[in-house]
Amino acid sequence: MNDIPRIGLGIDVHRLAPSRPCVLAGVTFDSQVGPLGHSDGDAVLHAACDAVLGAAGLDDLGTLFSDRDPANKNRPSTEFCEETMRLVTARGLRVLSMDCVVETEAPKLQPMRQAMRARLAELFALPVDRVNIKGKTGEKIGAIGRGEALRATVVALLGPSRTTGRG
Ligand code: MG
Repeated sequence: MNDIPRIGLGIDVHRLAPSRPCVLAGVTFDSQVGPLGHSDGDAVLHAACDAVLGAAGLDDLGTLFSDRDPANKNRPSTEFCEETMRLVTARGLRVLSMDCVVETEAPKLQPMRQAMRARLAELFALPVDRVNIKGKTGEKIGAIGRGEALRATVVALLGPSRTTGRG
């Protein structure tokens, strides 16, 4: 049953505010603004976890890690990734590939793209050439274009964690 590839989609929006730490895909940015959130607000990791959990047929991130639970306050989102991978591995699945789009006016992603790819590859246990990440602006329109928020969209492909011996 697990030998059929499964695709999952995750989308996450966070408001941006001055004087907030800016951590995206587990990488710390030198930025004037950062995402607001109950945890560290890492929208890329939140969307990535939701994509992986969705593909595995598991509950979503908000259900597993409620923002009403004080234990999750200011929690590093890398811990959500670790828990997500534990659940996925227990189902006999692994992440085969992942592609991410981050829409934001600030910070600029380009200088950190390779670091973000490497961190995502590490967190979701796949080769770096199977992870990609693209930065887009909001074209000066809407909340993203005005620099009030950022949005991360991630698709993830999952497959069996082991080959079945049939090659
Ligand atoms: Mg979030």
